[in-house]
Amino acid sequence: MAKIKLTEQQQRRIEQNQQAIVENKLSAIHGLVIGQAGHQLDVETNDGILRCGRRKNIGAIVTGDKVILEAVPPNEHVITAVLPRSSLLARPDFRGQMKAIAANIDRVFIIFSIRPELNEGLIDRYLVAAETLGITPVLVLNKIDLTDKEQLTNIRKRIALYTTLGYELIESSAKEQHGIDTLLDNLHGHTSIMVGQSGVGKSSLVNALLPDVNIKTKEISESTNKGMHTTSASRLYHLPEGGSLIDSPGVREFGLWQVSAEELFNGFVEFRQYQGMCKFSNCQHKTEPHCAILTALEEKKISEQRYESYNRILESLTE
Ligand code: GDP
Ligand code: ZN
Repeated sequence: MAKIKLTEQQQRRIEQNQQAIVENKLSAIHGLVIGQAGHQLDVETNDGILRCGRRKNIGAIVTGDKVILEAVPPNEHVITAVLPRSSLLARPDFRGQMKAIAANIDRVFIIFSIRPELNEGLIDRYLVAAETLGITPVLVLNKIDLTDKEQLTNIRKRIALYTTLGYELIESSAKEQHGIDTLLDNLHGHTSIMVGQSGVGKSSLVNALLPDVNIKTKEISESTNKGMHTTSASRLYHLPEGGSLIDSPGVREFGLWQVSAEELFNGFVEFRQYQGMCKFSNCQHKTEPHCAILTALEEKKISEQRYESYNRILESLTE
């Protein structure tokens, strides 16, 4: 790079800036990270959105983080601190190392649909991931426009299990704009993400919720954006009715990363009350005598389906 000769004026300004920092005259500004642009971060403040750099050695900063900024005259800003987080979403990068992708999420909408057909095993995995992170899950059955009355009755029977476990369940159709108001009500006052299998209608729902944003739906993204899904940064959108939604293809791939056997157990909410009640402290809840889980299963306090799902996930963890 060519050496840049500073004018006298520039030199003077730099000296003044240094002086200002030394005298600690710069006021701290609070902000919310709403997106990333390369190494810089877009931070929403009372003075609008500021594109900021960051101090070294303050760790990862991601969308959803609440941060403190300092003005660096003449017109730059740097993030100097990250406030404590209520939750942190991370996923393995291409080297298998966990990388933070979004912070302070308190609600996850688990989207499933009629086509591709819902898969309870997958729903259970998302539920465990949400429970482990301390994020409230909400289940969303999308594409109900594709069912007739009888099919819908059957599907409702299948998923009634989840409402008996205490989970909120919303029926929607992004296509027919059904359930959008209920979704907006549930998003209000929260920072949320949407997750679910490819093709269930996440982009379509986001577009229905945020008509001004226009997220590419499947048909387009598959043909033109191949391979970009794991790299694109997450973005925080404010919903017109209040609340915010953090979205990115990376966020949507939210999954069961690094869950311990104990977290898995606690991720099945109806199992929790039996924690520590089996005769053997290392009980595998398979064939052991005086197993609290097997007893609950016999007494139908735990469903066969969830018990089997638990075992399948447990096996996949130890593989
Ligand atoms: P994503 O992969 O979860 O983001 O799913 P998309 O939003 O890209 O949707 C996948 C396909 O399902 C697209 O062809 C959508 O038009 C379609 N789709 C999404 N929501 C609905 C819905 O409620 N009803 C119907 N019939 N189709 C939908
Ligand atoms: Zn047991």
